[in-house]
Amino acid sequence: MSLTLRFAPSPTGYLHVGGARTAIFNWLIARQSGGKFLLRIEDTDKLRSTEESTQKILSSLKWLGLDWDGEVFFQSANQHRHLEVANLLLENGKAYRCFCTKEELEEKRRRAEELKLNQRYDGTCRNLTQQQIREKTNRGLPFAVRFKVPKGEVFFNDLIHGPMHVNNDTLDDFIIVRSDKTPVYQLAVVVDDHDMGVNLVLRGDDHISNTNKQILLYEALNWDVPGFGHLPLILGTDKQRLSKRHGAASVEEFRSMGIFSEALFNYLCLLGWSPGDDRELFTRDELIKRFSIDRINKTPAVFDPQKLLWMNAKYLAAKTADQLIPYLKPYLREKGYSAEELNDPRFLFLIELQKIRSKTLRELADNLQLFFSDPVEYEEKGVKKYFRKENSLTLLNELHEFFNEQSNGFFEDISAIETAIREFAEKRDLSAAKVIHPLRLALTGKTASPGIFELVYVVGKKKVLTRIQNAINYLKKLN
Ligand code: GLU
Repeated sequence: MSLTLRFAPSPTGYLHVGGARTAIFNWLIARQSGGKFLLRIEDTDKLRSTEESTQKILSSLKWLGLDWDGEVFFQSANQHRHLEVANLLLENGKAYRCFCTKEELEEKRRRAEELKLNQRYDGTCRNLTQQQIREKTNRGLPFAVRFKVPKGEVFFNDLIHGPMHVNNDTLDDFIIVRSDKTPVYQLAVVVDDHDMGVNLVLRGDDHISNTNKQILLYEALNWDVPGFGHLPLILGTDKQRLSKRHGAASVEEFRSMGIFSEALFNYLCLLGWSPGDDRELFTRDELIKRFSIDRINKTPAVFDPQKLLWMNAKYLAAKTADQLIPYLKPYLREKGYSAEELNDPRFLFLIELQKIRSKTLRELADNLQLFFSDPVEYEEKGVKKYFRKENSLTLLNELHEFFNEQSNGFFEDISAIETAIREFAEKRDLSAAKVIHPLRLALTGKTASPGIFELVYVVGKKKVLTRIQNAINYLKKLN
């Protein structure tokens, strides 16, 4: 049987990583089985749904590489069909009109609470006679439509959690159409999933109680019940449901941090699914081949931002400088750097040097700053260690003179730079480190950077001289 799966987000905010993982798992199964992956925007809650959110969700899904089959479905466009099915249920006696007012229901709820009774709907309108119903409708009284929960129990074999059942006695006669004639989620989902041909529903654990009700609707309509699997939640490191409080929680935020889409995809797959061995890095194609529902964990997964950064760093390091340029552009543009400079071979070389020292694209862009701009400040601990020595000023002056005497060609040859700097130190009876550290601080403002000889090449004669001169001026003011 060919599988049809779907992802059905409500457009009330960004795409949360939990939702993204649900989408990914559905997509993987669809692509693996040659089935379909459909997208339905559940926009029936007019107060909370926005077009902006829909666009953000679509953009995050595209960025993650999750393509859907056919057009996007919008749940609100199907209201007439939801109501048609509600009428069918009414006609078949599987649902009934409930004329209880909000105030009456509230009062019943309050009384039940006082008496510590269960707060389910008491069934007042369940057994109205046809005449009573006619009399009320003739008076134009508004009514909601309630589903008549039958006796018995709901059973389903959850593909992740195993057999599940619930006694129908514990379920309310739930509303399927509100008194303002808007269909309720439970009904809309069942009708849409049925009409779209969805035969496998994979969604979050928080929907288990909905599944019970939805199965009752499928049965009442004599429709085939799809397979169901419920994914355990994603928690933060404090074991609470992952949210903004834990830092980034949406796909959009990770994207803006400079996480690769492949890395987030890969990380989210391992969050709640295990490949069965120690391997951690997988391409999308490999995941399509290896993914299987029976290796989805039953227990909640903890989102570990450090692990994601680690994984992202692996993806970063695996790309060449040329491949990284298009990814880096937005971050460099944000910093105001022009695109022309990006073709400079020295810049590409710096990317190679810095990519292994960076975990995200944003961090890499920060680490490329030294190519574009002279340091405006110096690390305090570096100043203490390398700029406040007795010979610091002399050393910088001599370095300036030394570099000034070199030809432009010298700055193209990293091994010549190394030999010359070592000789420079030896001549003055200094260890190479005694020269390298202050020079690094002058060129970058930092105490840590890629190798100094490579750095002199990257920065080039003109900027080397400017930066040493700036450090000299800074030192003069210090003393
Ligand atoms: N729209 C629901 C949500 O965003 C999901 C519905 C479903 O997957 O059945 O939580």
